[in-house]
Amino acid sequence: MTGKEETLDPKDWEGLRRLTHRIIDDAIDYTRDVRDRPLWQEMPRDVRDSFAAPLPQEPTALEDVYGMLSTNMMPYPMGNIHPRFWMWYMGSSNFTGAIGDFLAAVQGSNLGGGNHSAGLIDQQVVDWCKQMLGFPETASGTLVSGGSMANIIGLTVARNQMAGIDVREDGVAGIEKPLRFYGSDQLHACHQKALELLGLGKASLCKVPSLPDCTMDLAALQAAITRDRAAGLKPVCVIATAGTVNTGAIDDLMAIEAICRAEEMWFHVDGCIGALIAIAPENKARVAGIEKADSVALDPHKWLHAPFEVGCALIRDRGAHRRTFATTSEYLESTERGIASAHWLHDYGVQTSRGFRALKVWMALQEHGVQKFGRLIDQNIRQARYLTERINQEPALELTFPTSINIVCFRYCTDIASESDSKRVNTEIMLRMQETGVAAVSDTTVHGRHCLRVAINNHRTVEADLDVLVSEVVRLGKLMQEIPAN
Ligand SMILES: *Cc1c(COP(=O)(O)O)cnc(C)c1O
Repeated sequence: MTGKEETLDPKDWEGLRRLTHRIIDDAIDYTRDVRDRPLWQEMPRDVRDSFAAPLPQEPTALEDVYGMLSTNMMPYPMGNIHPRFWMWYMGSSNFTGAIGDFLAAVQGSNLGGGNHSAGLIDQQVVDWCKQMLGFPETASGTLVSGGSMANIIGLTVARNQMAGIDVREDGVAGIEKPLRFYGSDQLHACHQKALELLGLGKASLCKVPSLPDCTMDLAALQAAITRDRAAGLKPVCVIATAGTVNTGAIDDLMAIEAICRAEEMWFHVDGCIGALIAIAPENKARVAGIEKADSVALDPHKWLHAPFEVGCALIRDRGAHRRTFATTSEYLESTERGIASAHWLHDYGVQTSRGFRALKVWMALQEHGVQKFGRLIDQNIRQARYLTERINQEPALELTFPTSINIVCFRYCTDIASESDSKRVNTEIMLRMQETGVAAVSDTTVHGRHCLRVAINNHRTVEADLDVLVSEVVRLGKLMQEIPAN
């Protein structure tokens, strides 16, 4: 048998070296030239069909595998690394982060835990997240797939800590009074999903109305808590949002913290958009109070521009965090020395095996320093202000909601007969900009008014890109007026 065993390693290491060097060269050019390519383009039929090919039984040379990808994959991205991508809410990635993901895979450690360098880097990045938000050193945290999972972690600890029974032992069926969580009507959809997964049901989430500025109405929150308590329910947690998806509104964190303390409730902050404003010198006052939360979800793949995926949950009370997730299995006992002599990182979350997602964040923070990331956040907020001014000066456009941070809501408004006409015209403008690969914005409806939504969470955007957006929306709007509705 000796010498006949197979392996996935190449026979020709020098050939692999040459190919990999070429791939890296191509990747550098791809990133350098991103501005010169269309942001997005529809895939032709043959490209789509290529991804429906059946399971390969026989080998293909790696060079040819790469050839398929350079033809069929790389030219058809979502577009979010492009300087004029402002849809939904996501980061624009960075090349250092891509190297981080590559090295993480090469080194290959499993971040379920263990005594190795990757484990220390994972913990260091969690510590750095605590430092960025002003969380105490004693707090705990874990890196997860993204903001949705980070919120699930926070809400799970909140449920177990506040339920009044041992939820791990008895399950939610043992809970005496139905638990109630509160968030504004602008809350991200992941919270409903979280509470469904936690066995508490959608009914456990009370949507508190928002004020005209889209922040939570705190008088309504207080009234809802009082009413629910009187009705025999158990108010356990307020979910404040630091940066809502629709408009970037930041709930009054200080006031919500005070309500939570007075009512003996858990104070969770969904900071997927805005938590990192804490590192931005010109704007950090907007999220003052976030450091007092019992738990926070933040999202390094948004305003730290880490390649997907990486989110982070921070929990003020490390004991509560561990009591929620820690398990001791006979096959995962710690040893005094050796590989198993560190505490298990899987005791802080749901996954057992975990990827080394910390490295991409660690490398970019080392390279640039946190101050630069803070300045980039300020820059995006300044750009949103600039775009707002441009819209205000342009008679064909109207701002549909006051801009607070980096999200701008507006629409084309000249010769629009009705709300449905406005939606038709503006949707068509949005789609044409995508299809021509010029710019990508999304749309939403705020207070019953449909609008285009520009979320500038992009370190590559410059002011001139926003000028392109304004003139393109005006040009397309005028063009639309010449085409009759069908
Ligand atoms: C993006 C976002 C989430 C979800 O985060 P993912 O990283 O996409 O899972 C949750 N809440 C808010 C406010 C968000 O903006």
